Amino acid sequence: MMTVAVATYLWLAGIVAWYAIRYPFQRRAARMGVARSTGGPGDRTALTIAAIGQFLIPAIYVVSGQPAFADYPFSPVQGWLGLIALLAALALFRLTHKQLGRNWSVSLETRAKHSLVTDGLYGYVRHPMYSSFLLSAIAQALLLPNWIAGASGLVGIGVLFFYRVGREERLMTETFGEDYRAYMRRTARIVPWLY
Ligand code: SAH
Repeated sequence: MMTVAVATYLWLAGIVAWYAIRYPFQRRAARMGVARSTGGPGDRTALTIAAIGQFLIPAIYVVSGQPAFADYPFSPVQGWLGLIALLAALALFRLTHKQLGRNWSVSLETRAKHSLVTDGLYGYVRHPMYSSFLLSAIAQALLLPNWIAGASGLVGIGVLFFYRVGREERLMTETFGEDYRAYMRRTARIVPWLY
């Protein structure tokens, strides 16, 4: 039975699963040499805004029920769709970590031994991990029947994505030159064949 309580627990389980997927990669990344870092305070701010939207605001909502004025009636259908989006997001999140492997970093960085990944999911879109962020923000919007706590993830991810994507593609172009330019010509950014 899909109730608000069940949907809320699904959102919470999603956060736990998300971190469990990331944790081993984060540990491994901490030991990897960095060649070049172009993140800086702007990127850290964008990451913080994303975390506020995808974690802090919904967590406050789940714990306190606030901001209650923005609640709307929950429908089980949206809960089921939210579960589907969540499972898809987590599967994609895990796969992108596996396929990026040692090239992954939280911030904008290149590794001492960086290789350009262009196959697997990366053969369809250049930023499948950001596609997974978008899917998890959609899951949040569906699982939490509150206009603010539901939509805050989409805002946070939107800020991170639009702040970062051009800078990330510039870093990749400066690192891999014509290889990355050719890769850009045959792939979309986050939605296959669309954008
Ligand atoms: N934007 C990608 C990667 C996110 S992790 C995605 O959404 O899947 C961010 C780091 O990945 C960047 O600092 C960059 O160094 C690295 N990166 C991005 N695209 C890459 C690619 N195609 N191959 C290897 N590394 C890449």
